[in-house]
Amino acid sequence: MKRAWNFNPGPAALPLEVLERARETLVDYDGKGMSLLEMSHRSEEVERLVGQTEETLLRLIGLNSADYRVLLMAGGASAQFALVPLHFLGPGKVGRYVLSGSFSEKAYREAQTVGEAAVAATGKASGWSRLPDVSGIDLEPDTAYLHMTTNNTIEGSQFRQLPDTGGVPLIGDMTSDLLGRSLDWSRFSLFYAAAQKNLGPAGVTALVIRNDLLQSGNERIPAIFRYKTFAEHGSLYNTPPVHAIYVMKLMLDWTEAQGGVAEMERRGEEKAAILYRAIDDSDGFYRGIVEPPFRSTMNVTWRLADEALERKFADEAERGGLAGLAGHRSVGGLRASIYNAVPVEACRELAAWMNDFRRKFG
Ligand SMILES: *Cc1c(COP(=O)(O)O)cnc(C)c1O
Repeated sequence: MKRAWNFNPGPAALPLEVLERARETLVDYDGKGMSLLEMSHRSEEVERLVGQTEETLLRLIGLNSADYRVLLMAGGASAQFALVPLHFLGPGKVGRYVLSGSFSEKAYREAQTVGEAAVAATGKASGWSRLPDVSGIDLEPDTAYLHMTTNNTIEGSQFRQLPDTGGVPLIGDMTSDLLGRSLDWSRFSLFYAAAQKNLGPAGVTALVIRNDLLQSGNERIPAIFRYKTFAEHGSLYNTPPVHAIYVMKLMLDWTEAQGGVAEMERRGEEKAAILYRAIDDSDGFYRGIVEPPFRSTMNVTWRLADEALERKFADEAERGGLAGLAGHRSVGGLRASIYNAVPVEACRELAAWMNDFRRKFG
């Protein structure tokens, strides 16, 4: 089989080594005479798998298990849009949101269904081509938390700066850049990432939470939705998505073996530079959507002169073995998602292809 160069936004590319390892172990897990798919989630094997997955993630980001807990949950990042306010909003408390793209807006709207939420900063007036300045953000004393999306998957922008929130918990949706670059994670009291972008397959969401915030969460929500329930049961309160967790563990091991976050960041910058160069050196044939200081190293977005040409680009690229380049249906344009599992070579192939396409149609 010839593998496509896969630029899908999520679910997204996984390293071939990870897929092959998952295949090898699918039928007989750990010499147990059965598949992990057939095993009780109360077995020693699954307990060990879940514990090791949580430990590996914490080790990769260098946070201390005395201060932070990792929880593995279902429901995707979208479930966290609701669970965060359910835990931390209450009478007289306001959840404040940095708006930087559609996912951050979705998180904000979900909070409004739960309690009081307000906008702390927004980049909407620029059509999401710029990020709001969060450096001098001023938070009223009734602020329960500040929520931000560190990388805007659909628009293709990424925060380089983190706000100083004083004593207010900072909460991050890091679905599309966790482990893609180093960040001062200790500035956050809670962050989460659905696995299907940078961490593995769909079905599991990793959530990292400081112990003090974990203890302060609202208890009057159903046990199945409570972070504390997952912490007390080692993420095994009910049946977890066992196989998704397994593939995530393989992906985390792969990340570590490649050199960890520092190496992923180095490659990410190299990959992004290749594609932004193809855009910037095209004499305006390709036009970047996001202004250069705010550009993402994970999702590269650009436009062509018109939608017909964009469609032609995506279709012909697909036929040429470069998959997943159409922009999100809500914004159009083109997008290359270059998560950790996408090799530098894929970006070189795409850049060469972009140059050819420009010579033909420019
Ligand atoms: C993909 C994505 C989501 C949505 O994730 P689901 O798992 O589909 O709910 C939310 N936030 C960001 C930043 C994303 O990239």
